Amino acid sequence: MRLRPFALTMALVIAAGCPGASAQVFDTGKEAFERHLAKAIEGVPAAQQGRIRDLCMGPPDPYTRAPGTRVPDEPEDLAADRVPPMKVFDNLYFVGDRSMSVWALTTSQGIILFDATLGELVEDRVVQGLPAVGLDPKDIKYVLVSHGHDDHYGGSKLLQERFGARVVMGAADWAMTPDPEVKGFREPLPKPDLYAGDMTLTLGDASVTIMATPGHTPGTLSFLFSVFDKGARHTVAFWGGGFPHESVAAMRAFAISAERFAPAVAKAGADVVISNHPNNDESLPKMKALAARATGGPHPFVLGPDQVARRQVVLSECARAYVAAGGRKGMPALGIR
Ligand SMILES: [Zn+2]
Repeated sequence: MRLRPFALTMALVIAAGCPGASAQVFDTGKEAFERHLAKAIEGVPAAQQGRIRDLCMGPPDPYTRAPGTRVPDEPEDLAADRVPPMKVFDNLYFVGDRSMSVWALTTSQGIILFDATLGELVEDRVVQGLPAVGLDPKDIKYVLVSHGHDDHYGGSKLLQERFGARVVMGAADWAMTPDPEVKGFREPLPKPDLYAGDMTLTLGDASVTIMATPGHTPGTLSFLFSVFDKGARHTVAFWGGGFPHESVAAMRAFAISAERFAPAVAKAGADVVISNHPNNDESLPKMKALAARATGGPHPFVLGPDQVARRQVVLSECARAYVAAGGRKGMPALGIR
């Protein structure tokens, strides 16, 4: 059994003992909600403020389900969701689709794949998609799974079995139990290769800084790594999972994680954001703009360090606003929306 536990960092334990611990007291009530919301939308153009408010408050109740509740299958159209694979940076390729992102980071010793989409899609998106951009799926050495929902880990089992890729997932997410009845947990897990916490994964000439950022799931991972645009270095911040609107407790963990990742993002000078769903990083319009980029024009994925830092603020302040309101259930009592 290829089991290699790495130095496992219990993010919450460390957070509780760090000098900034006083900032992790969560304030509650309507005034606190409004104050955190105001920080989340500060400086955001008026036209986009509503979207951020929605992001903070979460979907309306009918869409919020208790964990473990069965959700019927959504119709899937494999062909209609297809997106042509694309080289986005000198060493980073998009091989996902309209709803799930898969990113391939090339190194001098093979490919690090970020996420592996669903088992039923991995053949079409990844195994067929990599050759379309001149890459060989046999070169996948690692699959880094951003979090343990099956739209991210589902395809990793095939990549492990067929190509010998080693699957890296957050320690806590390996512990989940797949259940064919429950959306998000339906697909069988691969064999555990690496239990990740805070660590650096190096392959050839590339290193990925991995940080445990529990919240979306207990084992969610976020990443920092370098990419190159015609030789010019940029740094990517990749946040591993969206707001957990189903749970105030999870949202607290999410806020703490966002506040732990932010200084690492700033220190690295991250100026690019990518995500595990195209809707979160606007990768589809950006790839369209990239394809049409004039020689010497700006790279659409390069936002600059200020905007990347700003996104971290939205993550933590939105989460704090949600916690302050007591989640969707607490909002009516406070007269929120
Ligand atoms: Zn998820």
